[in-house]
Amino acid sequence: MRLQDKVAVVTGAASGIGKEIATVYVREGAKVAIADLNTEAAAATAKELDPSGERATGVAMDVTNEQQVDAGIQQVIDRWGRLDVLVSNAGIQIVAPLVEFQLAQWQKMLAIHLDGAFLTTRAALRQMYKQNSGSVIYMGSVHSKEASVLKAPYVTAKHGLLGLAKVVAKEGAAHGVRANVICPGFVRTPLVERQIPEQSKELGISEEDVVKKVMLKETVDGEFTTVADVAETALFLAAFPTNALTGQSIVVSHGWCMN
Ligand code: NAD
Repeated sequence: MRLQDKVAVVTGAASGIGKEIATVYVREGAKVAIADLNTEAAAATAKELDPSGERATGVAMDVTNEQQVDAGIQQVIDRWGRLDVLVSNAGIQIVAPLVEFQLAQWQKMLAIHLDGAFLTTRAALRQMYKQNSGSVIYMGSVHSKEASVLKAPYVTAKHGLLGLAKVVAKEGAAHGVRANVICPGFVRTPLVERQIPEQSKELGISEEDVVKKVMLKETVDGEFTTVADVAETALFLAAFPTNALTGQSIVVSHGWCMN
């Protein structure tokens, strides 16, 4: 068990990548808060992972809401007494050509991906600094390093997470806190399933071609990355024992991106 009795908060953990990370963390002995906007799904996920409720709990949290983030993180600390790992993972996607993006859509994207990362990080660091230890993991994307058409705010926000992680790495070092970014390629979660018909319409190509010629075109083997691939990386980063690995980004994308 690589995370025995560690306490973790995973945002957006009621679905997709976050849910698999929470599953692997519980399997490895951690106590995990499933923090999500979708309160019912968060509670159901917690129950699925640990029916006794001892090692998994649902926490209602809109990561863009300062009060809800602070209260949610505090709830976890009150319950389990510490906080060792934050996985800032909650995210959405909105695709459109840049000239058609509405300001409200742009702001919503940046609020969830960047305000959410800032607010959860700040709340977590307050506790981690007291303990003099902690690991912060951001869910970036290949879009932290590369660009694609139709994804202006997503690419902008995911690039921004690299900067935030580097600042947390520098400021956190004196307090035993490290910060890193995972950059997955395409993973077949609800977030991606929704994009296939949307991009097919926007680009005027079939759904099959969106998968083959857009999403997986640059991979070395035409394969999707899986939630398990990303969760194993999140386990590696959470369990890593020293500050040697901090301020880094790890790409998990079947070779789509190699830098
Ligand atoms: P998903 O849609 O399956 O899950 C996202 C979860 O986040 C949902 O449970 C949703 O309720 C929650 N959420 C949304 N807005 C929230 C908010 N304001 N506050 C709290 N929770 C909120 O998506 P996913 O594919 O698992 O994506 C998770 C993360 O991984 C995102 O940051 C995404 O950008 C990133 N990512 C996904 C892929 C991919 O191909 N799926 C690739 C790279 C990066």
